Amino acid sequence: MAGISSRSQYFTCSRLNATTFVIQENDKYGEHPFIYVKIYHDPRLVVIADTGCGGGDKDRGFYCNLKDYIETYPAPANHGKPLNPLKAERGYLIICTHCHYDHILGLTHFQTPSTRILASSYDKSFIEENLPEHSLCKFIDVPTPEYTVSYWADDLEKLSFDGTQLHLQILHTPGHTPDELAWYDEHERHLYVGDSFYERVANYNVYEQPIIFSKEGNWVSYMQSLEKLLRFVEERNKEPDKAPVRIGCGHITSSVDGVEILILVRQLFQDIIAGEVPIVHSEEKRGEEFVLWKAAGEPRFSVAAPKRLALEAAKAL
Ligand SMILES: [Zn+2]
Repeated sequence: MAGISSRSQYFTCSRLNATTFVIQENDKYGEHPFIYVKIYHDPRLVVIADTGCGGGDKDRGFYCNLKDYIETYPAPANHGKPLNPLKAERGYLIICTHCHYDHILGLTHFQTPSTRILASSYDKSFIEENLPEHSLCKFIDVPTPEYTVSYWADDLEKLSFDGTQLHLQILHTPGHTPDELAWYDEHERHLYVGDSFYERVANYNVYEQPIIFSKEGNWVSYMQSLEKLLRFVEERNKEPDKAPVRIGCGHITSSVDGVEILILVRQLFQDIIAGEVPIVHSEEKRGEEFVLWKAAGEPRFSVAAPKRLALEAAKAL
């Protein structure tokens, strides 16, 4: 039987804004993915992005999965009530920011007829072909979840559900992976960027993570996506009497000023591409030289990627 203490150690839930919660997963892979849960009352819907590593890690004594947690755990951040009590009868729309394993393993628990799964239409083949490799499941030796994307979202598409506007907009942001997307919550003025970037050090210094790219990354596309996100946020920030757009990421960072972080991340990658950030670690992975760029001291970001991605960008840009 799932103990409340066990679940509260495995998932940590806090309120991000009036409609949205962020759940952090204490997974066995050390990925610590962020799971955003937005509750709608009309229509009866919960939007989730992403689904993390799938919860339930019996080896470590955690008997829980994300869906059960959302539906049954009395979350202190929600006045001691579950985020989506079963009796509320809400359907799920799952936005997949990209198909890396630490964002899709939880999909397994949401295979119900009323669940819709949304992904970027930018490069469908990345998800539809060779998913064990593209998701990286193959390299950590876990079964690749089987799921069908029920909605391929186009760039700049505004989402609706059963004919009602959700006031959410999708942006294609290839670079981390071809299928990477961002989604913007117009009412909350919050932009979610998946794994495109995040800060290096988690709250209370409990762990750190570089912005990471697998060999399917592409820094030419990535730099274009950063520009696109920056322009998007700057445009929204011109709207009168509205708060500046904030950004939430797939790891570590859930709410920071959008323009500020985008300018810093763009500068960081420009510096790396120009060869101005030291490489502090290098190893061979999947047949390539994989390196860690990290400035001296306690930098706000670090980056790990195949060195080739920086060299290709240096040539192209
Ligand atoms: Zn990723």
